[in-house]
Amino acid sequence: MLFSKKNRKEAQYLEPIYGNEAMDQAIPMYKLPKESLVPRDAYELVKDQLIDEGVSRQNLATFCQTYMEPEAVKIMSETLDKNAIDKTEYPRTAEIENRCVNMIADLWHAPEASDFIGTSTVGSSEACMLGGLALKFAWRNRAKKLGLDINKQKPNLVISSAYQVVWEKFCVYWDIEMRTIPIDEEHGSINVDKVTDYLDEYTIGVVGILGITYTGRYDDIKALDKKLEEYNKHTDYKVYIHVDAASGGLYTPFMEPELEWDFRLKNVRSISTSGHKYGLVYPGIGWVLWKEKDFLPEELVFKVSYLGGEMPTMAINFSRSASQIIGQYYTFIRNGFEGYRLIHKKTSDVAQYLAKEIENMGYFDIYNDGSRLPIVCYKLKEDADISWNLYDLTDEFAMKGWQVPTYPLPDNLSHINIQRFVCRADLSMQMAMDLVQDMKEGIERLNKRPSRHVSSDQTYGFSH
Ligand SMILES: *Cc1c(COP(=O)(O)O)cnc(C)c1O
Repeated sequence: MLFSKKNRKEAQYLEPIYGNEAMDQAIPMYKLPKESLVPRDAYELVKDQLIDEGVSRQNLATFCQTYMEPEAVKIMSETLDKNAIDKTEYPRTAEIENRCVNMIADLWHAPEASDFIGTSTVGSSEACMLGGLALKFAWRNRAKKLGLDINKQKPNLVISSAYQVVWEKFCVYWDIEMRTIPIDEEHGSINVDKVTDYLDEYTIGVVGILGITYTGRYDDIKALDKKLEEYNKHTDYKVYIHVDAASGGLYTPFMEPELEWDFRLKNVRSISTSGHKYGLVYPGIGWVLWKEKDFLPEELVFKVSYLGGEMPTMAINFSRSASQIIGQYYTFIRNGFEGYRLIHKKTSDVAQYLAKEIENMGYFDIYNDGSRLPIVCYKLKEDADISWNLYDLTDEFAMKGWQVPTYPLPDNLSHINIQRFVCRADLSMQMAMDLVQDMKEGIERLNKRPSRHVSSDQTYGFSH
């Protein structure tokens, strides 16, 4: 059969994909193309443009999930059309969200008699915003009752300097003073002994971090709770805790169930987490819960219609797909408690294996060995006799497709550069062994390279 321009339509159907016209020309980049493309051409063109971004599973910089089972992907793809905010149209989906909140409340030990309340969000960022807003409004209501001039100065929030960037955003967006307690050599997380120095009548709350993004370390939330319990005894201006458990919230309950960081502690009033970190769902899901309904000020709750009645909601966003919520529910019932524990245990084994191997290489001091969160980070030994730095090593990793970030620690440790692996469920032991081999080969290449001047003050930012 011969094809002419006239029967172009049929021709397109039969043409080999890389033999057709669409693949022989550039598509407009910043203007809507005039003509349509057939779907398979459009698919291939888009897919091809993403080809050099690397394999997400080799991205060891991210905490976000990079693998879900085919059945999870199937149910999520099939539910992309559902809008999570339309509770009346999708009452089953609303019920699924409700079940997830209940399961999480149970994992976080909401007391039997508690009237907890919670919601899904886009991620921890939205969840932290909501948690922070509740702190602000609740503080304002208490302060007004006590007769404080609430306009005299800005309210403040207390957190360690190892905060994730969302808290800075929260403080800027809602006009709050951020008071940061520096971390130091002795305290790789919040310095509990110093906390009360930062508190006053204008403090809306203290944020404890379960899983510091930079290093994977935990704030000692139990000690923080105890400190605030003492402090609150001597003041009318009570201060409570929000726990930012973005990465620990769906990890610790399975791996260290005896660790008290959650609603078992008296002054922990709200907790947020990312479903898309160790909750094992693709990006786009987070959760925030309050131990008691009363801890969430009513002004922040809006009603949407639900089955002829009304349902309370709290969100910064309005419309979004419900597929992530459904993906979370799938993952909860698919894995169960034991499945989560097994997956996290494997990830933890891999992290500790990596830490051991890296320590044995002799060039590095391990800063976090993955024994809690499966985050491995390390810095160069001060006396390491080498002519390369961690940024060079990052480049070596990249040659093998691995993304391994190097970045400075926050105040007061910003003179220290570290390199970090975030181990996730889809990093198997075999992959980890290959990673170690690639790292050793990279170091060997660097050692053989003619030495050159290494600038020690070379730093690049990194914020997740
Ligand atoms: C990742 C992270 C966040 C932000 O979470 P997203 O789910 O990416 O919005 C907030 N706090 C901490 C401690 C984090 O690690």
